[in-house]
Amino acid sequence: MEIRDLHCIVIGAGMGGLAAAALLARRGMQVTVLEAQSAPGGCAGSFASGGLRFDAGATVGCGFHPGGPLNLFGRELGIEWPVTPEPVAWQYRRRGRRLDLTSSRLGIVARYPRSAPFWEEQAKIAGLLWRLSAGGVQWPPSTPGDLSRLAMKGFEGLPDTALLAKFMKRTTLEWLASHGLDTVSEFVRLIDAQLLISVQATSRESSALNAAIALDLPVSGTWRVHGGMVRVPELLVRSVEADGGAVLFGKNVIRIDSIRREVLGVETADGNAFAADIIVANLTPDSLAVLDGREAETPPSAVRSRWSAFMLYLGVDSAAFDKAGIDHLQLVTPEGRLGECGSLFVSASPAGEADRAPAGQRAVTVSTHTFPEPWFEAQRRGGDDYLRLKERYTRKALELLYAEMPESEGSVRSVIAATPVTWERWTGRHLGCVGGFAQTSLFGVCGPSTRYDNLFLAGDSVFPGQSLPGVVTGARRTVELILRYAQKIRR
Ligand SMILES: Cc1cc2nc3c(=O)[nH]c(=O)nc-3n(C[C@H](O)[C@H](O)[C@H](O)COP(=O)(O)OP(=O)(O)OC[C@H]3O[C@@H](n4cnc5c(N)ncnc54)[C@H](O)[C@@H]3O)c2cc1C
Repeated sequence: MEIRDLHCIVIGAGMGGLAAAALLARRGMQVTVLEAQSAPGGCAGSFASGGLRFDAGATVGCGFHPGGPLNLFGRELGIEWPVTPEPVAWQYRRRGRRLDLTSSRLGIVARYPRSAPFWEEQAKIAGLLWRLSAGGVQWPPSTPGDLSRLAMKGFEGLPDTALLAKFMKRTTLEWLASHGLDTVSEFVRLIDAQLLISVQATSRESSALNAAIALDLPVSGTWRVHGGMVRVPELLVRSVEADGGAVLFGKNVIRIDSIRREVLGVETADGNAFAADIIVANLTPDSLAVLDGREAETPPSAVRSRWSAFMLYLGVDSAAFDKAGIDHLQLVTPEGRLGECGSLFVSASPAGEADRAPAGQRAVTVSTHTFPEPWFEAQRRGGDDYLRLKERYTRKALELLYAEMPESEGSVRSVIAATPVTWERWTGRHLGCVGGFAQTSLFGVCGPSTRYDNLFLAGDSVFPGQSLPGVVTGARRTVELILRYAQKIRR
């Protein structure tokens, strides 16, 4: 049997599913992507309302730098991404003080001179970890072969690997302490704010190694995706189709048919059934469990491992962002916990992008981390509880927006709020858990394998986790496993 005789069903046309589908279709496999919604992208998708087109979730293009995961991926598939580099990744604002995060560390080091050795170390560790995750190494190792490949990769990286071992068990806060930075509360808050949006945990909970990769984000550069983030999944759909695959919309997979350790196919809500040799589930492990008729796992209570997001989608007078001189901002309250409207990430569609907003306006996406459970409890209680909670969060988010971005006061023309309940509907993710898992340990991460021999996960639950580059890197690992499996069954 040749690879072209194998049929792969991909559940979900998010970035993870599409990346895996595009790579498999390019290798000649028959690929059919089944997407519940009427358009691709999921968290990297978009929607239109009131003459504005909003990025649903992801707004900052990353990984497009030469040699970066999106850059290599585009070259392999012959895709020219419609991107241009942003001079500033985003502006951090707290108590009216502003700091531009750019590809050089100069701004941060000028503000916090003692942090220079910390950033040197971070750059070294991040470089090694990117090589490990991109270099054909399955992480976490699940077979003796994975372990030996990992060891070989490690020896190539010596003596840096010894550095990695040193940080294996440290939290980020312990790492900061080793540089005498844990008591510089302003610096810790800056780091925490960046970690929360990338590894979903702050310095106290996150592993130093995960943090090292996450803190690399502004350094490797950020990119504007012309037409909005959804252009990236849209181009992947085209690539799958050009390689003979199909992407079918409005196909909500409601059942997985299996015998023992083998999946035979899937069923969709419209009464169709699709047989497959191989399945890629672009789902969280929880959503897969629910689809598979099992209970979703309860997260450990000590560490918050699953987040969702509260969002505001605003129509804003362009002048507010013209005055700010920047399209992406992170706004943080002086004290108190981050997330739950104590920190916001704000992104505006670029000035003059006519297909995103009418003249003189910007389509603005505002997000904050939130725990999903209270939203679903409020919805279950019925009455006006859920609406009241939504109003309270809307008020709190706008308060912080106006406090730290006074340019925006009086310029908001329209407001749409979205909650974990909305995210569950939009992405099919159980409890609307978006953003991947909190990366508290490099060894507790999830790989693409599942309880089935021929069903593999893709998406931001798979190491190295959330973000477009993270998901594309993870999808490569999924594809490697699938190709190994395909070889086995073809023998
Ligand atoms: C608010 C927010 C802001 C973010 N900002 C950034 C950013 O600026 N930059 C960045 O790089 N990353 C960002 N991210 C992260 C990034 O968007 C995600 O990591 C990535 O898009 C996740 O892709 P995925 O394929 O794992 O999942 P998803 O995007 O959730 O895709 C899953 C797809 O599967 C479909 N699906 C689910 N169940 C079924 C079913 N049963 N049948 C059929 N189809 C199904 C869904 O409809 C969806 O299209 C952000 C995320 C969020 C939530």
